[in-house]
Formats: sequence, C-alpha cells, structure tokens
Amino acid sequence: FSMALLLLLPLHYAKAQQQQDPAIIRKVNVLLSKMTIEEKVGQLNQYSGKAMTGPATAKRSSLETEIKSGWVGSMLNVKGAKNTHDVQAIAMQSRLKIPLLFSLDVIHGYQTTFPIPLAEAASWDLDAIKLSAHLAAREAAASGIHWTFAPMVDIARDPRWGRMMEGAGEDPYLGSRIAEARVKGFQGEHLGSTDAVMATAKHFAAYGAATAGRDYNAVEMSDHELWQTYLPPFKAALNAGVATFMNSFNTLNGIPATGNSYLQRDILKGKWGFKGFVVSDWNSIAEMVIWGYAKDLKDASLKAISAGNDMDMEASAYRKNLVELVKEGKVPVTIIDEAVKRILYKKYELGLFDDPYKFSDETREQRVMNDTSTRGAARMVARKSIVLLKNDAETLPLAKQAKTIALIGPLGKSKRDLLGAWIVNQDTTAIVSLYDGINSAVSKNAKLLYAQGGSVMHSSEQEIAEAVAVARQSDVIIMALGEKFDMSGESKSRANIELPGDQEKLFEEVSATGKPVVVVLMSGRPLIFNTIADKAQAILSTWWLGSEAGNAIADVIFGAYNPGGKLPMSFPRSMGQIPIFYAQTNTGRPYNNEPDKLYTSTYIDESNAPKYAFGYGLSYTQFNYSDLKLDRETIKMGDSIRLSFKLTNTGKYTGEEVAQLYLRDDVASIVRPLKELKGFEKVKLKPGESRIIHFTIDKDKLSFFDNKQHWIAEPGTFHVMIGASSDDIKLQNTITLTQ
Ligand code: BGC
Repeated sequence: FSMALLLLLPLHYAKAQQQQDPAIIRKVNVLLSKMTIEEKVGQLNQYSGKAMTGPATAKRSSLETEIKSGWVGSMLNVKGAKNTHDVQAIAMQSRLKIPLLFSLDVIHGYQTTFPIPLAEAASWDLDAIKLSAHLAAREAAASGIHWTFAPMVDIARDPRWGRMMEGAGEDPYLGSRIAEARVKGFQGEHLGSTDAVMATAKHFAAYGAATAGRDYNAVEMSDHELWQTYLPPFKAALNAGVATFMNSFNTLNGIPATGNSYLQRDILKGKWGFKGFVVSDWNSIAEMVIWGYAKDLKDASLKAISAGNDMDMEASAYRKNLVELVKEGKVPVTIIDEAVKRILYKKYELGLFDDPYKFSDETREQRVMNDTSTRGAARMVARKSIVLLKNDAETLPLAKQAKTIALIGPLGKSKRDLLGAWIVNQDTTAIVSLYDGINSAVSKNAKLLYAQGGSVMHSSEQEIAEAVAVARQSDVIIMALGEKFDMSGESKSRANIELPGDQEKLFEEVSATGKPVVVVLMSGRPLIFNTIADKAQAILSTWWLGSEAGNAIADVIFGAYNPGGKLPMSFPRSMGQIPIFYAQTNTGRPYNNEPDKLYTSTYIDESNAPKYAFGYGLSYTQFNYSDLKLDRETIKMGDSIRLSFKLTNTGKYTGEEVAQLYLRDDVASIVRPLKELKGFEKVKLKPGESRIIHFTIDKDKLSFFDNKQHWIAEPGTFHVMIGASSDDIKLQNTITLTQ
C-alpha cells in the first residue's frame, strides 16, 4: 500500500477541541505573575485530607500550616459541605487566597450506590450510564466535592486483575462510548455548575494490561496494541471534554507511566492537545524510586515534572524538591508555570475564585441527599445491568405466587457485599438485600424459606445439610453466590477466578434435590462456574449492583423487568484460556477450518471458545434478525454505506435487545481481528413489534492505526456482521472500499 492510499481522519488525528476562554487565560496569567516559586509549587501539591476532620492531631495542625502558607493546591478525601467549607476557610487565610480543589473517588455513587462500573457496562445503555454518573456527581458536588477520580477507562482482558470491576471491560469501542457517557454525566454541560464535578480519565495508560493480571505490574506492549486497544477510550474521554487525566502505577515498556514523557507530553499534551491537567496516582512519583527508575525522591520529581505530570498526589515529592530543582536550574520555571496554569485554569472554570464555597452549601447538601428519586434511578440502572446467562425451559420469570421459594447461599442476606469496592461516603445501612427484595416482590401467599449454606469461602457438612433440607421443602430455589465485596477491586487480583470456596459444592447438593435452581451470581469480575453453567436451570450475572440490588434482582426474577444486559467481557471456561477476548486475529493455523489437523492453534485439552462470549445475554423474549440491506456494496474513501436490517420481537414479552455491528478488514497492512465491534443499538420492542435498525459504515469505522500512529483505511473487502453477540452473528455481507 502506498502512502497515497492512507487517509488521515480528523476524528482521531486532529487535536481535540479543547477550547479555552481567553478571559480566563488572562486572569490566570495575572495571578501567576504575583506568585512566588513556593506558591507555584504549592498548587502542584495534593494531600490526603483525612486528618482534617475529627480530633485535633499533630498531623492536622501541620496540614493547616501547609494550607495557610500556600503549599497546597488540592486535597483528596475531605468531604461534606461543612468540612469542605471549613478547610477552604483555611486556604482563604493564605497570602493569595487561592481556593483548594476537593477531590474524591466517586466511582459508582456517593451516598446512593449505583452498580459497579463493569455492571453498568453490561447495560450497554449509554443514557443510563450517563445518568448514573450525573446523579453521583450531583450528590458529591452537594457535599463540597469538585472533582472525581473517575471514570477508569482502562481496557482489560485479564479477569484475574481485580480492577476489572472499575472499568467497562475488554472492548475499545464499547469502552470509548461508555467513557464519553460517563465524562458527560459527571461534568454536565459545562464545568462550574454545582451539580457537576470534574472527571478524570484514568489510568494513563495501559494499567489494565498488567502482566499476569497482577495489580500494579509492569506492562510490555507494542505501540500497535497500545494505539488500537488501550488508547481509544482515553481519546474518547478527551473528546468529550474530560478535565483531568491520572497517570498510572505501571511501567509501559520499561518507563513508569508517571515519568513517561511519550504518554504525557508527546501523545496527551502534544498530539492530542489536552489542555487540562495530569495528576499522578497515589504516591506514584515516589514509587518510581522503588521501581528503580529514579535514585531518590528528588530525581523522581525531576522525572515526573519533565514528563508532564502536573500534580503530585500524596508523595510530597514536588513539595520537597521542586523549588530546589528550579533554583539549581534543573527544572526550567516555564515547566512549573505550565503545570500551575493548567490547574489554576480549572479553578477559575469551576468558579471557585468568585466563590470558593460555592459547592459547600449545607442546605443544598440536605436537599440532594434526601432526594428519593436517586434511589429510583439506582434501581433502574441496576436492573439494566443484569445479564441473563441461562434460562432453560423458561424457568424465569418466576410466578409471584410460586408456593414455596427457598433462598439459599452466603450472599442471600448480605448487604455490604452488594456495594462492592470503592465505598467512600455511601450509606452502608440502607441497602436492599436479595432476601428483602424477594420478600417484597412475592405475593402474600408465597412462602419464603432461607438457608445461608455457609460462607463465601466455606460450607460445613451441617450447613450444606440444612440448605438441602430447605431446598426439599421448596418448589423453586434461588441461590445467591459469588464474591464478597473485597474479592475484586484495587490490589485484589486473584490467581484463581473460579467461584470461591465451597459454593459449587453447595450448589451441587442443592441441585441434586431435583428442584429447579436459579443462580444469582454477584461478583466484580467474570468467574468460572462450569458445574453451575451446566446444571442450573437459570443463571443471572448480577455483579455488584449497589443500594437497590435486591429490588432490581427481584424485579428480574419475577418478571417486573425483562433483562437485556450483555456481557462486556468474555467469561472463560478455564484459567488457562486467560487472557481471553473476542477480537482475536486468525492464525496461519485456523483451528476451526481444519478440525482434524494435528497442529492447529488450539489447546489439546481445552476449547478456544469462552464459556460466555463478549456481547452475550439472553432475554425472556426472542428476537429475530432479518432483511439485511446495504444501500451500496462498494464505496470510495470519503463515502459511506447505509445498512439496515429488521429486528422483530417474536416472543411473548416486551424486551430490549442490543444489536451489534462487527466488521472485519479481510486483508490489511497489519493483521486485523476477525471481528471488531463498531456499533451497537439498544432497542425496546413489544411482542410482535419490528423495527428497522440503521448503521452507517464510513471510512472511520473501516480504519485502524498503522504503525506510525496514523488512523488509516485501506482499500479492499470487509466483512459486515450483525450479531446478537460476538459469537452469534445473525446477518452478514461483504463490502468493498476503493480508493
Ligand atoms: C488508585 C486511584 C485512586 C487513588 C486515590 C489509587 O490507589 O489507583 O485510582 O484514584 O488511589 O484514591
């Protein structure tokens, strides 16, 4: 392919539209001209402010002195309208009265807990995801928070990694759409509104690709893989106007992300034109010393600031070293100025110079926290996040008057576990357990029995026997199994992701009663549960759904809501398949075409297929795909094809289907995956109803990054596939792109 064929596309290549207001720039420059070098460095310093509330301690008084002397630009973990007000008042005693930025990990809710991000990704419902982020921001902002460390937009393909739960799964296209939705939800129309917060695209970059799924581990990755798979959601967040980026703990090809100038200067601030600021991860500047990349904290500070890391979270590295580094001539003051300007700009944009207390309003806080409609939204988003994995003989939905229902399993009455990780200010008492949810859903005539059957990690013979006895007295059994809240999350990587403890054994004994079993799996990541997958009559993957979990699951079990979620990640059938993801390339030894050849690209002891594929999820109703039409089959660069097909609800319930568009570039200058998601639409249809769905295929959808970081489309043929999941293609055709 000659260079002449390469087409550079504005969407990915041009600098992002990071517009800046000249009036704010002027104000920033005026303020900067009044600042001493110490005050400048102070703006780059972020401390944890946990000690600022509670009893007077030495730590607290030393932080107060720091703030008063202008040594602090931002604090994390100070929350509440009153607390933020009081701490801001200390900053107002500093010489220049520059307001502090208050930040917090508002990952899936502030007071009201929404589903974990991976669960929400399973909804494929961008409006619901945006709403969830907006409501979390609204509660947090009413509590004095200006800035959340979310969304995490790291693509991850290794379910051993504990932070799967915090992202949107394995796919860059789905991940990009969700990144945009979450940024827009958190930030609202524009910064400065008191029901929105600044968002953070994290962790830049490739943190989700930690070697062997072990958190914080090194990442070795080709530029090709970085650009195709890991960077797109960051770029999407940036295009959606994200205010800040956070770098990451991992190395990328030997260079810690925090000190990585290729990532932060060349790509983010250079090629992409990012105008916001970059915060380090917690103490990550200091961690460069432990990595063996910097000889001491001073060296680490030099490397971080030079590489484009603007703010130092908690390491005190900048605080202790930057003034000296400037005085020694090792760091030009212009580099400090650049970082300070980026931070001050955001403080002006938020309106904090006009009113440093504008977010810290106790009356608003009370009103927002008491708004019960937020709980309603949490229930709605939770229902949408549930994925129906199996439903033999239409076991579900259960009739509300089923005579005797048994709820069995270690998570049946659990509450805290339903929230999952990242609980920063949540109400951990007002949680609807599955038991509560079922209890309020069933009719008065139904009888609800319960047996815990042991803990998540262990079941004694006696506990199993009690569970079996309860099962025998019942017409149908619901089992609540999965992970405890601390089994997925940061630094919660697992070498074995099989359903923990004795839970499969408990299931087998209960299932051996011959009664129908509905398994509800609660987890922060894909799990392996082959016995259940084979023997249960019905399975729901419900992740960790938050405050309204029990109600949302009961809504699905008893048919008040027809599940429509689809997996945002492949579920492996065995550990040895990991990492597993759908967007595989072919090999020179395609196992599926030549099943009897000896040397094929497969395992001799395991299939290549996942247990449940990316994009998979059932409904109580059925959908039929038909009538694929293309308005043309050949296009030139710059043209587009309009594709349509008919989707019909052929079952007996109203339901939602996520129709998925996959493309394959048949021959390319870089080997392309057999399938890549390039579009989806979530459609709600009544029984018997049909709708014509449209997708547009243009050069953007046909493009990929070449090895020079150009987003290019190459002439040739492409497979167009419409599927109900990545392994259930319903309609297909071929198109041709000419020059
Ligand atoms: C995590 C970040 C988080 C930060 C602040 C770090 O350990 O990696 O994602 O935002 O802590 O709590």
